[in-house]
Amino acid sequence: MKNYTKLSCAPHIDFHDFEEVIKVNKLTTENILGDFSRFHILMFLYERPRHGYGILNEFKKRLGKEISPSLVYPFLQKLQNRGLVRLSIKRVGKKEKKEYSLTEEGTDLCEHLFRRFADLVSTAIEPGLTICANCGCKMYDGGHIEIIESRKMTFCCSSCANAYILEKGLRMA
Ligand SMILES: [Zn+2]
Repeated sequence: MKNYTKLSCAPHIDFHDFEEVIKVNKLTTENILGDFSRFHILMFLYERPRHGYGILNEFKKRLGKEISPSLVYPFLQKLQNRGLVRLSIKRVGKKEKKEYSLTEEGTDLCEHLFRRFADLVSTAIEPGLTICANCGCKMYDGGHIEIIESRKMTFCCSSCANAYILEKGLRMA
């Protein structure tokens, strides 16, 4: 099996090749991103190894709704079949506890998904962003407003506003 650990620091990676690799029946990046329940299951496992019921509880705690075990367990099984998740069984007293954890390949898949998700989110918020008139950085919220020669201008911070005023030899209105 190939080693994909270096992918996270290789921005030039070809997504299509990688998507071929992670295909599990219908388990593709697009399907997982399009299905937030599965996305969350992977996110919970990325945080730390968990028991099946731990995933069910976490889902309810964070999202305020129940997730069906009939969705969770077959999905975990699929991930396991594909070598993305490993199951370890620990004995606690007389009971057996099954714990699911991501394999190295599973961790890579998650990082890949998170990047894709971040891209989606930035595309969604891009039109609402304000650009600092001095440094050009993009602001999600707030900013520093100055009235310069009767024009209302937005900067990311007062330092940028001052730098702009200094550079242009302007004076505040
Ligand atoms: Zn700025």
